[in-house]
Amino acid sequence: MTACIFCQICAGTLPASVVYEDKQVMAFMDIHPLGRGHVIVIPRHHARQLPELPPGLADYLFVVARHILKAQRALGWGLEGSHILLNDGPQANQTVAHVHVHIIPREKRDSLPSLGRLLMHVTGLYGPVVKRQRLDQQAQALAAQLARLPLLTAPELPAA
Ligand code: AMP
Ligand code: ZN
Repeated sequence: MTACIFCQICAGTLPASVVYEDKQVMAFMDIHPLGRGHVIVIPRHHARQLPELPPGLADYLFVVARHILKAQRALGWGLEGSHILLNDGPQANQTVAHVHVHIIPREKRDSLPSLGRLLMHVTGLYGPVVKRQRLDQQAQALAAQLARLPLLTAPELPAA
């Protein structure tokens, strides 16, 4: 079995609160959210860092991230702003070595708690885990909003 936790999520051997999936990507709730409704988008193809991804797949990752951002805002999350973040490499705080885009909604006056969570994140302690039931509820709410947006079309890519 692969040691990569995101590959395990893709394989269905590790639980995840899935927001969206197709043949190229998966989006699921971050288990240690840095903001309400924090989502992670990953390619199914294992690659540690962005330059290792086929270009069409790297582009598509951000197309899906943009859809997630819209779905979050339709729910009122991140109306004041969001981080669309990709930590590319350990020195840039990448702790899971499988490319992923964070979409992190921010709220008014959340700077202090957000900073605390961020500090725990960069030290690898991560901070509190949100209950699966809550994450599943958020994932379902986002999936319902995504269904109202134009359909995403996963690109055909050459075999890795
Ligand atoms: P990074 O530091 O950019 O590599 O971010 C890795 C992210 O993965 C962190 O925000 C973690 O909270 C998140 N994470 C780790 N394990 C899981 C998991 N099993 N399910 C969902 N998110 C996870
Ligand atoms: Zn992986």
